[in-house]
Amino acid sequence: MLVEYGIADHAPMPNEPFDDWRMAQADLPAYFAWIERARIAAKKFDLPIRCGLECDWLPGCAAWINHLRSLHDWDYLIGSVHYLGDSWDFDNPKWLGKWAQLDLTETWQSYFNAYAKMAESQLFEILGHPDLIKKFGYIPDTELVQFYDPAIEAIAKSGACIELNTAGWHKPCKEAYPSEQFLQKARAADIPLVVSSDAHAPSHVGRDFKRALSLLKSVGYTETQTFQRGERRAIKLPTSIG
Ligand code: FE
Repeated sequence: MLVEYGIADHAPMPNEPFDDWRMAQADLPAYFAWIERARIAAKKFDLPIRCGLECDWLPGCAAWINHLRSLHDWDYLIGSVHYLGDSWDFDNPKWLGKWAQLDLTETWQSYFNAYAKMAESQLFEILGHPDLIKKFGYIPDTELVQFYDPAIEAIAKSGACIELNTAGWHKPCKEAYPSEQFLQKARAADIPLVVSSDAHAPSHVGRDFKRALSLLKSVGYTETQTFQRGERRAIKLPTSIG
């Protein structure tokens, strides 16, 4: 059963148009109004609606993220790495043809370097889909801990949560984000965690939460986190989901 419903659209960027998969700055008032309507509608189900944003981490983004933060009483901001360099949104299917030509070790290295820098920035309550770089199944044939370890160290130091994002099970990689090995290491480093379905359609809401619960239990997580106006609260993971 869902105890909270969090909404986090892709955050606007300062230079517009930036790409074709995020809201514009001018859309923010409608976004807040829509969430307010959802809050009123969800009252009868006693379901809190949380208001967030999924922000893109790019070098030099701090002033913009701080500006976004000042615009609203957010419950949480999620930081995600979707871009490597200035203009490669690597998880966009339109770049699929590019992957076969890449040095995967180098690409993974630059992704996890960016992820560690995002954690160090301390700009976000939640760090999104930690190993999104595997989305299309282009995974270097090497020990992946070499990429995970520095990122996990930076996340643990930052105090931020990571998310267990169930959308990955429905992508070519066929694994939740992050992998089980990453989760084991995150658990060992005492990194708090939220569970998210990263829904882009109503039918995706809460998708695979049962599977997520058994994965979390298998690596030793006993609680998840919720956020209200930036305040984090731990809640016990249920023993089962009906
Ligand atoms: Fe994302």
